Amino acid sequence: MAPLITLNNGLKIPAIGLGTFGSDNYNAQQIAQAVDFAIRNGYRHIDCASVYMNEAEIGCAISGLIKKGVVNRDELWITSKVWNDAHGEGQVIESCKKSLHDLKLDYLDLYLVHWPFPNYHAPGCDGNARNPESKPYIHEDYMVAWRQMEQLVEMGLVKATGTSNMTIPKMELLLRDAIIKPVVNEMEIHPHFQQAELFNYLVSKNIQPIGYSPIGSPKRPERDRTATDTVDIEDPVIIRIAERLKIHPAEICIKWAIQRGEVVIPFSVTPSKIISNLNAVCGDPLTAEEMEEIAAIDKNCRLIKGQVFLWEGAEGWEDLWDLKGTITC
Ligand code: NDP
Repeated sequence: MAPLITLNNGLKIPAIGLGTFGSDNYNAQQIAQAVDFAIRNGYRHIDCASVYMNEAEIGCAISGLIKKGVVNRDELWITSKVWNDAHGEGQVIESCKKSLHDLKLDYLDLYLVHWPFPNYHAPGCDGNARNPESKPYIHEDYMVAWRQMEQLVEMGLVKATGTSNMTIPKMELLLRDAIIKPVVNEMEIHPHFQQAELFNYLVSKNIQPIGYSPIGSPKRPERDRTATDTVDIEDPVIIRIAERLKIHPAEICIKWAIQRGEVVIPFSVTPSKIISNLNAVCGDPLTAEEMEEIAAIDKNCRLIKGQVFLWEGAEGWEDLWDLKGTITC
């Protein structure tokens, strides 16, 4: 079993969860099978989202396991996320209810605002596609969504709420105005993209970082690749440490993340990989020197740039990430 991390509301989240975004590579049935296998083999945390279009199949897998007595509901940590097309008044609550219905659950352990923009695009669209109705971050609009996140907690439908893909300037505003603070921020983190400033900021505010794409998303589709992207699991430092421990470089990425204090949500449909990722969390740790060596290979290489969410007049994907330290409008 994975270790548990206590969040700022006292709840305990398993340090490793199974990612469920199959992208172009896997269908909903394959993901549901992976969830079934993962829970049977010790996973207790599943990272879902309505936009992954597989919550109904995952719900069948989870409810089947509960009915068979393989696991109890209260042993599981199930996360879902509201998609960008449902930030408006009433829509967040409706979307959460739909996820609960699909997942066949009475409550979610964690509900996240998937992106801080109400901008969306057709699933699988080209990286250059733009929605002409896209807007920059508007804090008042985000708070319309966040107030509903708070209501979901009060209604007992959600145990905890959090953010995803936030920046420090946006989080500052949310922390100023939120009645119920986020317990986590889910964000891209892997050895070549460590996001130390945001990570340390979140820790200082007692918000738990959850790292997505912890292995560097090696099978992401072509539209999410650029010529300058680097490959974490081919990094000589990662490979050398993997050879010492006789494990796959992917598992080194996971060990590093866990020892740094993250919650990780690696994706896999492959039974041996699902098991070895859990073993990476529970097995021999990296040495202090190895942790330092990995800290030194950061390349600031963001893979999920989010360019499809850009608004008219934006200069480039960097505008989504407030790189100048203020919110880019
Ligand atoms: P990951 O870094 O988790 O990479 C997943 C890939 O790595 C899979 O194709 C898998 O192989 C391979 N892999 C997994 N474990 C191993 C291993 N032990 N050895 C070798 N290869 C391995 O990237 P993802 O982009 O999938 O991110 C993980 C999850 O994060 C998503 O599924 C989703 O839940 C979440 N996410 C959240 C986002 C957000 O905006 N909040 C954005 C992006 C992701 P195989 O396919 O062969 O099984």
